[in-house]
Amino acid sequence: MDVESSPKKIHAAVREARRRGLTIGCVPTMGALHAGHVSLVQRARSENDFVVATIFVNPTQFGPTEDFSRYPRTLDADLEFCRAAGADLVFTPQVADMYAADAQTIVRVTGLSTVLEGAHRPGHFDGVTTVVTKLFQITEPDRAYFGQKDYQQQLIIRRMVQDLNLPVTIVTCPIVREADGLAMSSRNRYLSSEERGVAKEIFQALQLAEQLAGSGSDSPQEIADRMRVHLEGTGVLTVQYAVVADPETLVTQQTRVSGGAGVALIAAKLGSTRLIDNQLLNY
Ligand code: AMP
Repeated sequence: MDVESSPKKIHAAVREARRRGLTIGCVPTMGALHAGHVSLVQRARSENDFVVATIFVNPTQFGPTEDFSRYPRTLDADLEFCRAAGADLVFTPQVADMYAADAQTIVRVTGLSTVLEGAHRPGHFDGVTTVVTKLFQITEPDRAYFGQKDYQQQLIIRRMVQDLNLPVTIVTCPIVREADGLAMSSRNRYLSSEERGVAKEIFQALQLAEQLAGSGSDSPQEIADRMRVHLEGTGVLTVQYAVVADPETLVTQQTRVSGGAGVALIAAKLGSTRLIDNQLLNY
């Protein structure tokens, strides 16, 4: 496994792989890797001849009051995870390798980026779509792997790929969870042991939503309300949103359509830690 911080050298390496007739899979990450990230690299390994993982804590997707400077950086352990999961190449750029000081270009997906996460984290998705476009330009993948954990993110990237005719297939991988259901996240390490005990209630609320959707009597709005009540019942989770939305447009659903589908999405703060999770629903 090679590790390289220069975009030019990464580009040369993937070009060489392609010249040899290999298909290329790319897994963009911000490091602090866990089993969720590993599942993406393994999936990429199983579907491509040459696998590039990228590790870059992207400053442009953090708001001014967010956790960019304290975001966990665990490069040595990350490289071990990448090696074990079968990556061929790991791209570990510095900020200056990715952004010229006088850069003036951003990539923006308009509508989808303005709701939910976008409403609570202004500019976040501009940072994501810009960096992912750059990573696609550098690694020229046939397939790129994203987690359903960041549901809105994968939807926005799919939209961008379609709108810009980018020659890459987006693969969305299932959410990997801890034993108690908490979705794995690099940010879980911020939780105190007390907070960690409560964090599973987010998954419990999503399970409640799945159950209610399956039983067929509650409307999406009622399901969303029940999720909120469950979360607020903990007394410590501050709900930013708890909604049931259309899985493609993210427009909030009000009334139940038999045989329809939705996605339950939650963002909540536990102390200073912000957690997100989601669950696809069938009515
Ligand atoms: P991040 O390093 O948080 O930017 O995440 C990199 C990629 O891993 C994104 O596509 C995430 O959606 C995905 N990911 C993060 N956590 C999980 C998880 N628990 N299960 C599956 N994929 C995940």
